[in-house]
Amino acid sequence: MKRFLLSFVLLLAAHTTFAAVPVYVWQGWDDTAHPARLAADFAALKAHGVTGVCFNAGFDTVKTAAAARAAHAAGLEYHAWTPCMLQGGKPAKWYAVNRLGVRADIAPPYVSYYTALDPHNPEVRAWLVEQCAAVARVPGVDFVQLDYIRFPDVILARGLWQKYGLVMHEEYPAADYCYCDDCVADFRAQTGIDIRAVPDPAKVPAWARFRQRVITTLVGEIAAAVRAEGKRVSADVFPGPDSHAAWMVRQQWDAWDLDAVFPMNYNDFYLQPPAWVGTVTREAVRAADRRFPVISGLFVCKDWRNKRHISDPEGWGLSPEELNSAVRRSLRAGAQGICLFSASSITEEHWQALAETIDR
Ligand SMILES: [Zn+2]
Repeated sequence: MKRFLLSFVLLLAAHTTFAAVPVYVWQGWDDTAHPARLAADFAALKAHGVTGVCFNAGFDTVKTAAAARAAHAAGLEYHAWTPCMLQGGKPAKWYAVNRLGVRADIAPPYVSYYTALDPHNPEVRAWLVEQCAAVARVPGVDFVQLDYIRFPDVILARGLWQKYGLVMHEEYPAADYCYCDDCVADFRAQTGIDIRAVPDPAKVPAWARFRQRVITTLVGEIAAAVRAEGKRVSADVFPGPDSHAAWMVRQQWDAWDLDAVFPMNYNDFYLQPPAWVGTVTREAVRAADRRFPVISGLFVCKDWRNKRHISDPEGWGLSPEELNSAVRRSLRAGAQGICLFSASSITEEHWQALAETIDR
């Protein structure tokens, strides 16, 4: 009887829908993104009950204006999804320097586009603040959503080790930033420690905190500029912050001045089941402490029927059934919304799974 009751409760839990919460979708600008195409895409999202689109047009204000206009015409919020620290073609001294003394534009870690700027550099900060303010000034932009607002991954998520041929049981010197003269001197002035003379800088907690504060301060400067334009600011972050973000990418994001946070709860990257999404969402909600809503970012698998045959973890993600579970666990853990990565991977079965979990 007990067993029957338990099954009944579980069945009920798996089929009840949650009251309407915002649902967002990440989508990037591509060559097909002319106004008519955007209008069709956004109308389709709206028809699926989506609240807003997080759209990556970088810092291009012309593209942003076109996309924001199309989003509002379709009845969607517009979140200007803007990769921050990864930029090409900037002055050499703007780039971060790794523990081996090599600049990120000369030898980016992991992938060629990891050309990371130095967030401690005042010229970099001023440039990023102005770029974000310019995006915020675009009519129709509701939020500026900061992405790559961090240092490069000093340790990759467990699921990515094999792909990049790495075993990462300690911080990886080639991806450990920033050891430029200014960062080293500033840290020495604050603490008396010459970090270049330390055998294992990963064992110096003050050095990690120094870099976390650099990012926190930059977020604060950007947030002030965005709000001065009457707009709101959010950020795409690693899960945690303490379990992952703070040490992997120096995001102590519970200290940030935000209007919303979008943790990328991409369980497959961490070789974890959908249940893990509930665990990290609970941590995030506790850390945010009602100062800003937590929107649970979920990575969707486009080719989910073939998932077990896909070797690249960046092709994995949630099947519709797993999405159902991840959404439920996110909302039970206190998430105030869901964001799906990305528009081009969401199948009809995923939309169906979403409709079964959240009232639209
Ligand atoms: Zn530096």
